[in-house]
Amino acid sequence: MARLTLVLFDIDGTLMRTEGAGRAAMARTAQQLFGRPDLFDALSFAGSVDLDILHRAFSAAGIAPTPRRIGRFRERYVRNLRRLLPVHPAETCPGVVALLDHLAGRVSLGLQTGNFEAGAQAKLQRVGLWTPFGAEGGVPIGGFGGLARDRSELVPLALQRARRRGRLPDRVVVVGDTPADILASRAGMARLGEGAPALRTLAVETGWAAPGALEASRPDLHVADLEQGWNEVLDLILGE
Ligand SMILES: [Mg+2]
Repeated sequence: MARLTLVLFDIDGTLMRTEGAGRAAMARTAQQLFGRPDLFDALSFAGSVDLDILHRAFSAAGIAPTPRRIGRFRERYVRNLRRLLPVHPAETCPGVVALLDHLAGRVSLGLQTGNFEAGAQAKLQRVGLWTPFGAEGGVPIGGFGGLARDRSELVPLALQRARRRGRLPDRVVVVGDTPADILASRAGMARLGEGAPALRTLAVETGWAAPGALEASRPDLHVADLEQGWNEVLDLILGE
C-alpha cells in the first residue's frame, strides 16, 4: 500500500514571520478590554500556545481566566490581528513556497500551531499561504492553540481531523522552529501508543530559538532553512 505522509507545519518562525503583529494585537486587545497594554510584556510567545498565554497573563494580573472572558478576548484579538497584519511587515521563510508546491499532491498538509485557528488563517492569508491548508472550505487539518493549553495535544488533535477527512497517515512529519515543537510532538505521539503513525521531526532555524536549544531537542533533521536544507528535507519527508 502506498505510504500516506502528513506534514504538520508550525506557523510563526517556520512558515512565515510577521514582525510583531501577533504581540501588537494581544497588547491592543488587553488595552481595550482591561486598560492593560502591558499584560503580555513578561511572556515569551515563541513555541507557546495562545490559550495558555491568555491563562498565564490573566492569572498573573489577577484577572480570572473564565471561558467567557477568554472567548471575548479571543474574538477581539483576531479582529485586531486582521487589522494590524496589513500594516506590519510579513514574509514567508526561505524555501517555504517551493516546498509547499513540491509537496502538493504527494503528502497531506496540515498545521500544528499555537495560534488560534482564526489567527492562523489570518496570518497565512497575509502571505498567501492559506490555500494549501484551507481544505477548500472544509475543516483544515491542524492542531490549533485554541483547542488545548498543552502543546503536546496539538499533533493528536491534528490527527483526529485528518481521520475525519478520511486520511490515515502512516507517517507524520512535524516542522518547527522551537524545541517546544519537537519535544511536544514527540510527547503527544508517544501518548497515542501502539498503532500511532511514525513520527519524524524537522527543526528550522528561521525563528527565535536560542542557539543550541534546537539541537538539544534532538530533531531527526536540523537545517538552517528549508532552502539550504532542500535535499535533506525532501529525503526526510518523502524518503524511506
Ligand atoms: Mg514557531
